[in-house]
Amino acid sequence: MSNLYDVTIIGGGPVGLFTAFYSGLRSLKTKIIDAEPAVGGKIRYFYPEKVIRDIGGIPAIKGHDLVKNLHDQALTFKPTIVCNERITDLKRQTDGTFLLISENGTLHHSKTVIIAAGSGTYEVNKLEASGSEAFASQLHYDIQDLTIFKGKRVVVSGGGNAAIDWAETLDAIASEVHLIYRGENFKGHEERVKELHDSNVFIHVNHEITALQGDSQTLTNCVIHCNKDGNTTKIEADAILVNHGVKVDIGSMQNWGFHFDESGIVVNHEMETSVPGIYACGDICAYPRKMRIIAAGIHEGPIAINSAKNYLDPDAEQVAMVSTHHESFHD
Ligand SMILES: Cc1cc2nc3c(=O)[nH]c(=O)nc-3n(C[C@H](O)[C@H](O)[C@H](O)COP(=O)(O)OP(=O)(O)OC[C@H]3O[C@@H](n4cnc5c(N)ncnc54)[C@H](O)[C@@H]3O)c2cc1C
Repeated sequence: MSNLYDVTIIGGGPVGLFTAFYSGLRSLKTKIIDAEPAVGGKIRYFYPEKVIRDIGGIPAIKGHDLVKNLHDQALTFKPTIVCNERITDLKRQTDGTFLLISENGTLHHSKTVIIAAGSGTYEVNKLEASGSEAFASQLHYDIQDLTIFKGKRVVVSGGGNAAIDWAETLDAIASEVHLIYRGENFKGHEERVKELHDSNVFIHVNHEITALQGDSQTLTNCVIHCNKDGNTTKIEADAILVNHGVKVDIGSMQNWGFHFDESGIVVNHEMETSVPGIYACGDICAYPRKMRIIAAGIHEGPIAINSAKNYLDPDAEQVAMVSTHHESFHD
């Protein structure tokens, strides 16, 4: 069957992308499928403009640059990449191969499957304030391009690490930044909260945005309401950036036959799930002391691929030749 792949990776986040590279290194016919319109996972969705600093050998890199590098690297062995397809069902066939069914009805066939689906698919929690629809073009839920906020008055809403990070990042380029948080104490890391208090960001705790206002379709201000004394205040604003968290949806994955615990798909040290031929890596997998960071997933993906390789060919080497000695990279 020509459309039968050796490995199909569900999820084209950073981990799925590197896993595809390593799969090519092991000469496996590989496909990546992602529900989003483009690969990159959480980095593309939530923080393409943020600087990532905790990957070995890369002191600092912007999210979108890391996604581009991972994508370029994944393409080395020419995997098939399918976007805009959410996998909703996975079944073993009588011949032992797997059938993956996407929401739009497309069928994918594979000898093994690697689940690199992160936290599932996501949808941001929207701002519930009057005027949100009228001023939708000035209401943002992520930052794909930081420069659009240059010289603008920006109001950020949220109290976690991401909202604090955005407020501080914008402080350097916006003309004015306000951070609105409905709680009393920010939920971000202690050090970041301290930095926030030392910055020029105007902080409004115990407040919520209740209305966006402006002329025609141009936002000019927002109204914030104090949940302690009931007072309202107007803040001049050209843009609103909301970070109220996301709804993540694992969908039907829990019915696909492998064992889940409260933090994800349970795997052993070979990244094997409880179903032979199905492996998991990255944020979705669970084992004691699992770290949900990019570097951890980049380690787990190759382990999953090596397990898949041995499942397909028990006589194959347990690991690939290191890239410096690998025949694919000889001149
Ligand atoms: C705001 C923020 C900042 C962060 N900062 C850092 C940092 O500085 N350093 C660091 O190391 N880590 C950081 N992380 C964590 C890091 O982003 C994750 O560890 C990493 O993205 C995990 O990669 P992944 O590929 O496993 O999953 P994800 O990035 O979540 O990608 C999973 C992909 O699977 C797709 N998918 C899910 N379900 C399906 C389905 N059924 N069918 C098809 N596709 C599906 C999704 O659309 C998604 O594209 C941060 C996370 C956040 C939210």
